[in-house]
Amino acid sequence: MALSEFDLIARYFAPLGQNGRGVSLGIGDDCAILDVPPGQQLLVSIDTLVEGVHFLPGTAADNLAYRVAGACLSDLAAMGAEPAWITLALTLPEAEELWLKSFSGALAEILDPWNICLVGGDTTRGKQLTISLQVHGWAPKGKALTRNGAQSGDLIYVSGTLGDSAAGLDQLQQKGDNQYLIDRFYRPTPRIETGLAIRSFASAAIDISDGLLADLGHILERSQVGAVVDPAKLPLSAALKSYPAEQTLDWALRGGEDFELAFTVPPQQQQAFESALKDHLVPCTQVGQITKDGGLQLQQPDGSLTACTKDGYRHF
Ligand code: ADP
Ligand code: MG
Repeated sequence: MALSEFDLIARYFAPLGQNGRGVSLGIGDDCAILDVPPGQQLLVSIDTLVEGVHFLPGTAADNLAYRVAGACLSDLAAMGAEPAWITLALTLPEAEELWLKSFSGALAEILDPWNICLVGGDTTRGKQLTISLQVHGWAPKGKALTRNGAQSGDLIYVSGTLGDSAAGLDQLQQKGDNQYLIDRFYRPTPRIETGLAIRSFASAAIDISDGLLADLGHILERSQVGAVVDPAKLPLSAALKSYPAEQTLDWALRGGEDFELAFTVPPQQQQAFESALKDHLVPCTQVGQITKDGGLQLQQPDGSLTACTKDGYRHF
């Protein structure tokens, strides 16, 4: 590499390591030393993007930063955690300054509003561009949301709108120009505020990375319950509605990578939940209800129920 590994870190990544909360020692030593605030638990998650597997060669560096950070932070959001630190492992075919500038600049844009600090990483040379981002956040002890708390009768909600990311990918493949949908694909917004806002009301939560049906399926499996979802209630963006209804429904149910939250709220909490979320920036829409058993069923327009497959996006 023309630019040494150390110059590269100092120039492009050390600036993202300033002013972190609880950072006793950041980038520059063998490890970072971090203090979790008293009474909080540490939550950790990692995501990897591999060129040719998760994105096409030539994808813009800023979009890659948004995508990997969005996916990762979405995991913390799903558990009602507050993000604090990230670590970054980069494998680069070459140290290209324009790429590094664009990638680290976009990463800073995402981290700054949340005061998230880059506390370390690893930089290596390799044939295939590979980006691994690990997020570290915290939540009050015992208060993090998990997948296993849903009970029969709980109401199922989703944040934002569904299906946009799949439509955005379609736009890219068809050379369409709907920038809203394309951004929803490249630049998912992790619903961190929403995760924090629902934390004291929700009984279970997950982020939608593989499609609503697949991810709700994980809640059902872990909570040992069933569910009925009403497709007519799914929140759809105006942009998505420019597609035929059958297509939008399929994307809203099975499309991956919206990174919205799906969560359950006990009926006795519904009123308090809805009034607490009244002024919340991201709409949360009730789309169904947890049942004692019966798997995952879709409500038809005539009121009848049909069993449905949980298939979303499959990685293998
Ligand atoms: P070591 O060889 O002890 O693992 P390195 O030489 O790989 O350490 O890294 C030096 C310092 O720079 C470490 O603090 C490491 O966490 C940090 N670092 C390396 N690569 C990155 C990166 N891409 N982003 C942020 N920090 C990094
Ligand atoms: Mg070392």
